[in-house]
Amino acid sequence: MSLKGKTALVTGSTSGIGLGIAQELATQGINIVMNGFGDKGEIEQLRAALEEKGIKAIYNSADMTKPDEITAMIEETIKEFGTLDILVNNAGIQNVAPVEDFPPEKWDEIIAINMSSNFHTTRAAIPHMKKQGWGRVINIASVHGLVASPFKSAYVTAKHGVLGFTKTIALEVAQDNITVNAICPGYVLTPLVEKQIPDTAKARGISEEEVRRDVLLAAQWTKKFVTIEQVAGTALFLCSDYAENITGTHVSVDGGWSAA
Ligand code: NAD
Repeated sequence: MSLKGKTALVTGSTSGIGLGIAQELATQGINIVMNGFGDKGEIEQLRAALEEKGIKAIYNSADMTKPDEITAMIEETIKEFGTLDILVNNAGIQNVAPVEDFPPEKWDEIIAINMSSNFHTTRAAIPHMKKQGWGRVINIASVHGLVASPFKSAYVTAKHGVLGFTKTIALEVAQDNITVNAICPGYVLTPLVEKQIPDTAKARGISEEEVRRDVLLAAQWTKKFVTIEQVAGTALFLCSDYAENITGTHVSVDGGWSAA
């Protein structure tokens, strides 16, 4: 089955994994709703580049900590395209600190963006998917949805929550031709990971090079960073007919991390 002409909303798609997923889906002829922060001019260039693939792409600046803005973004999607077929909950942030130093406002922000936003987008998207009799919800969780690492209490908590949410909603919509799954990547070299290298070095009292080698890749048995394209390809597979009976679960793309 071709996915051409469907509409996908990808939260946090101005950078990293979300942008890669938007580009892959656009290549398949899927219209895109972009979302995320960044320089207005750069976002417009990214949006225009998506349209060069022969699809329509719009940008919505909804802040994932603001439920009203999320609801308005789904409404704009329906107004613009008449349907919302694929929802990719990808926006996420990180903060690395021991629990006793963890800023409470960062805790709240991470729980809101990395976990609760999935609820706010999904609750608004599901009625449209039910009406059209087809849908795909893909939550970008993390290997940290399955296992922990020290100093990432809010992130690990949020990502574990995302997997629980994924399973619950999958059961609720199982007979509506809607699948709900998560992808659990290991380390992908995106701005989110680059930014946490200095903090991790500080928290552990080691050099940034040691963080890359001994911390980030220590748990990845392939000794390779996961690529954005590999995560985007997994998302595309989950959208395909091959994945029609895959629901309420996760796909690990972590170089063997969670197997150990
Ligand atoms: P990134 O920093 O490159 O991109 C994050 C995106 O989220 C950006 O577009 C940013 O503007 C957007 N965003 C941040 N706060 C937002 C808000 N309040 N409202 C709307 N958008 C917001 O990060 P990334 O590495 O591409 O991460 C994407 C997702 O993948 C995250 O959920 C992250 O937890 C997950 N993940 C990343 C890795 C990795 O190693 N990079 C591994 C596992 C999971």
